[in-house]
Amino acid sequence: MKKRIYICNTGGTIGMRPTANGYRPEPGFLSQMMESIPELQREAVPDFVLHEYKPLLDSANMRPANWLEIAKDIFEHYDQFDGFIVMHGTDTMAYTASALSLLLNNLKKPVILTGSQIPLCEVRNDARENLITSLLVAANEQIPEVMICFGGYLLRGCRSKKVAANGFGAFRSPNYPPLGTIGTSIDIHKRMIRKAPKADLKLLFEKDLHPKVAAFRLFPGIDHAILENLFQPPLKGIVIEAFGVGNAPSNDKQFLRIIQEATDRGVIVVVCTQCNKGRVDLDDYESGNALKKAGAISGLDMTVEAALAKLYCVLNLELSNEETKLMMQQDWAGEIA
Ligand code: ASP
Repeated sequence: MKKRIYICNTGGTIGMRPTANGYRPEPGFLSQMMESIPELQREAVPDFVLHEYKPLLDSANMRPANWLEIAKDIFEHYDQFDGFIVMHGTDTMAYTASALSLLLNNLKKPVILTGSQIPLCEVRNDARENLITSLLVAANEQIPEVMICFGGYLLRGCRSKKVAANGFGAFRSPNYPPLGTIGTSIDIHKRMIRKAPKADLKLLFEKDLHPKVAAFRLFPGIDHAILENLFQPPLKGIVIEAFGVGNAPSNDKQFLRIIQEATDRGVIVVVCTQCNKGRVDLDDYESGNALKKAGAISGLDMTVEAALAKLYCVLNLELSNEETKLMMQQDWAGEIA
């Protein structure tokens, strides 16, 4: 029997149409374009249902409420389908992939986010390849993970980052090997894939997210007044993109005071790195240790996208401060090695 795949179209370049103001998503356009791809009718391609969201979004316009909508949609169709594809804009795909990895617990079926850098309606595009490969992977590989399939790679969603604004190889997971490489053959790297949860565990999904989170990239000379404002209530959790292994200006007493006062009020401060590869260690340098002494915790090898999505999820559980910190540093969906 042919496998059945559920495709949710949230928007993004893949189904956009050119306008005088640039590309814009248009209702019904992706399904119209897909009808003109004869390969989608071939025996090797699974049956699929395409569900279009209203409104279709450029992913720059997506918010956590949209992540929750996708998670709920997958949850509600979970038993009827063998795999799931989320058509999505590339701009915030890594955030959504990270969030879905955390929102969908006990996942046993593949959930693949894909899209393109050039719309399907253009003569030269990467959309057709990304779409067909995603359909084949979703149907033929029983991978119990949220993934991004794009430009020749199958990547763990909560490890992925958008690394190219224009190129077809738009995504990489710099801190974790690809789950698959796609060239003349589709090669799945089985050793890198997470074990499926026990058979009796049912899919669960988180129904809400805590909104009072932030992220900021540290830079030399950051103004204290600006920082002071950012760390004020209602902030509950923040990801600092620090230098190198998690270093910050330890000679800046005002900077450290702002962090200390926030953590004293119960704000969770998670330190990630500005580098693409590697792991934060707040004991390596005095300049990182100062952040630890001010109450910040290491984000280990999490991407900023994953750490932010995790703050949204974990803060919503309303655990104690210590439990929240512990949970932030424990692996949940493959986001931490
Ligand atoms: N701005 C588009 C989006 O993220 C870019 C893309 O899809 O490639 O929706």
